[in-house]
Amino acid sequence: MNELSNSVAHADITTILHPYTDARMHEQKGPLVIEKGDGVHVIDQSGKRYIEAMSGLWSVAVGFSQTRLRDAAAAQMEKLPYYHTFASKSHEPSVRLAEKLVEMTPENLTRVFYTSSGSEANDTVIKLVWYMNNALGRPQKKKFLARNKAYHGITIASGSLTGLPGNHRDFDLPAIPVVHLTCPHLYRFGQEGETEAQFCARLLKEAEDTILAEGPETIAAFIGEPVMGAGGVMVPPEGYWQGIEALCRKYDILLVSDEVINGFGRTGARWGCEKMGFTPDILVTSKQLTSSYMPLAAIVFSEDIYNVIADNTHKLGGFGHGFTASGHPVACAVGLENLAIIEEQGLMENAAKMGERLQAGLAKLADHPLVGEVRGTGLIAAVELVADKATKRPFDPVGKVGGKVFEYGHEEGVIFRNLGDSIAVCPPLIVTEHDVDEIVRLMGIAIDRAA
Ligand code: PLP
Repeated sequence: MNELSNSVAHADITTILHPYTDARMHEQKGPLVIEKGDGVHVIDQSGKRYIEAMSGLWSVAVGFSQTRLRDAAAAQMEKLPYYHTFASKSHEPSVRLAEKLVEMTPENLTRVFYTSSGSEANDTVIKLVWYMNNALGRPQKKKFLARNKAYHGITIASGSLTGLPGNHRDFDLPAIPVVHLTCPHLYRFGQEGETEAQFCARLLKEAEDTILAEGPETIAAFIGEPVMGAGGVMVPPEGYWQGIEALCRKYDILLVSDEVINGFGRTGARWGCEKMGFTPDILVTSKQLTSSYMPLAAIVFSEDIYNVIADNTHKLGGFGHGFTASGHPVACAVGLENLAIIEEQGLMENAAKMGERLQAGLAKLADHPLVGEVRGTGLIAAVELVADKATKRPFDPVGKVGGKVFEYGHEEGVIFRNLGDSIAVCPPLIVTEHDVDEIVRLMGIAIDRAA
């Protein structure tokens, strides 16, 4: 380590509390300081290159050195670096991006609200839905249905929708009325001898029984990631989403597709809901919207929802919700340019094609004695490691070997993410065949070293 890296590392451990980090361990080990981006690679302070097989946090679609995004940000900074959208104020980048989102999302979604993060977006979804139901004179219709292992963010409300114990423990969550249903992951939550179809039927029955037990008049919305991400990359069984959609229609429950990770080609289709074959009332997007070069999220929702809300804002004399950075002009300008690149360069098509190669490559690791399951779709996948392949017994403690694979990955020059003992892969949409093969090869090496 050179002097600078030493000083950055030292300043880091003496000043910063890191998300998703054991602070005491971090104080001893220090940070991995990333200094530069180059296509699908990032480079640390010592000059070591890593393939970023997680796109940062599932988010950098166009890679880490896209100069068009830099130029779009600089041009907007020059022209109008900031303005807000409160009280009827507007600016072109936010409007043009909203038009683009309406054009790109399913036909029934026509209205846009901006936030800066996925968590704020899901908080806003909760508030929109509550506000709507109050306006409709049904104040008891407030509960959300979500799933165990779901990830919808970490604020008080969105963190309540999240179904991961680590996000609830000692934070006093859930703090809003939410019922978590079984995670639709056959390998982990299927019963002995259960087929995929039987598993799906059981989960749909559980959902309907829950709705009836709680009272449909109390359930406002069902929220889900079409393909679950941070919980471990789970693709639900065939027919699951159609069944959930049917229940939502039957009991007048809004269907929310959280596409913060799934959106813009990640799953091999433009949207996760398209890939899974359902039509949401509300779609939430972030991350690949700007390739995370700027913080931005958007909620796209139906005209029916808009009309109820709009009428109520008129009655109350305004909509009492919004962020200083809602529709930030620089973030929106970057988003527009990012979507233009994704379309011009056919990155969603590339993701579908490279996704097949990635899934096929990782599938070859399934025979490894440490590998319990390989799963995914498009350019999102996970390899789950187990202590006993035959019984699927997890490691004790969970993450013991996943953590090693993560570390060995670093040594080999690749950044994965270990979600417990599931090793996630979610590379930038610009990956080439060579990049994909390299990710698969390095995953194999890291697992072998951990064996
Ligand atoms: N929803 C999903 C599906 C996510 O994966 C995430 C973040 O990973 C969020 C919401 C929260 O987004 P943010 O971290 O921007 O608050």
